[in-house]
Amino acid sequence: MTRWAAVAGWPVDHSLSPRLHGAWLEAAGVKGRYDRLPAPEDGAKKVLKTALADPDCAGLNVTLPHKGLALRLADRKTDAAKSIGAANLLYRDDGKWVADNTDAEGFLYGLRRQASEFQPERAAALVLGAGGAARAAVYALTRAGARVSIANRTEKKARRLAKDFKAGVAAWPPDVREADLLVNATSIGLDGASAPPVDFSASRNALIVYDLVYRPLETPLLKTAKSSGRRSVDGLDMLIGQARPSFKAFFGVTPPDLDARQILLEAMERT
Ligand code: NAP
Repeated sequence: MTRWAAVAGWPVDHSLSPRLHGAWLEAAGVKGRYDRLPAPEDGAKKVLKTALADPDCAGLNVTLPHKGLALRLADRKTDAAKSIGAANLLYRDDGKWVADNTDAEGFLYGLRRQASEFQPERAAALVLGAGGAARAAVYALTRAGARVSIANRTEKKARRLAKDFKAGVAAWPPDVREADLLVNATSIGLDGASAPPVDFSASRNALIVYDLVYRPLETPLLKTAKSSGRRSVDGLDMLIGQARPSFKAFFGVTPPDLDARQILLEAMERT
């Protein structure tokens, strides 16, 4: 019997997770596998349910667009998954499937790794976006004690998210003058060319700019932030930070001490 886990999503061919979990499995000497599980929109429920019915399946990471489905398939939900309204992790506990969301944990891990001086208590955080990634960031920041405002192109969605987490709503295009932390949780920048409409000239000198987009690693937003002398945090450590608790939940061991960032950077160069 070989225990296996997988990342399920659509599309899923470019996911970096198998490379990272594979390296951890090998270094930890754990007999197991971590695969890609393609789950097209119109058959996703069947694909996921079939995987979960396999006694050798240790669990799944679930990515777009099935994080809501993952939540619905579970027997039990963690507080994070319930509050965020989406699950990126399904794992077994006492014969039951638990839905969890480790994106919020990953979000804070990224901050700790790249901007360890940031103190969330009472800091003013401005989150751009109101999708799944923004929900995880707002959940993490409000729980850590930050004052959070949300700016989104579609204001109605920002209002809904703000209400769920007792956060504020800010205008779009965003005004960053009062922010200590700016988080880009929109998909702007994925094309390597676009950037959210942000004017750094009036921002605080100590502003930290955190882009959750990690492909490209240095987004146009981060490039401008750096050239304006602002501190930048890229999204790669968030990816590592959400994977770490997943590995522990699947295989029962803490990820070995490898240079996960280097492993992912090399994988990104190849794909
Ligand atoms: P999503 O649910 O589809 O939300 C996308 C958000 O981007 C929405 O708020 C949308 O605004 C906004 N947006 C898209 N195009 C825009 C444009 N041209 N102008 C203004 N706003 C625009 O996506 P998601 O799952 O939250 O993911 C968002 C980003 O986070 C992705 O790029 C993803 O790569 C990244 N992410 C990174 C990690 C990590 O581990 N580092 C984890 C999760 C996600 P509207 O509401 O107006 O449409």
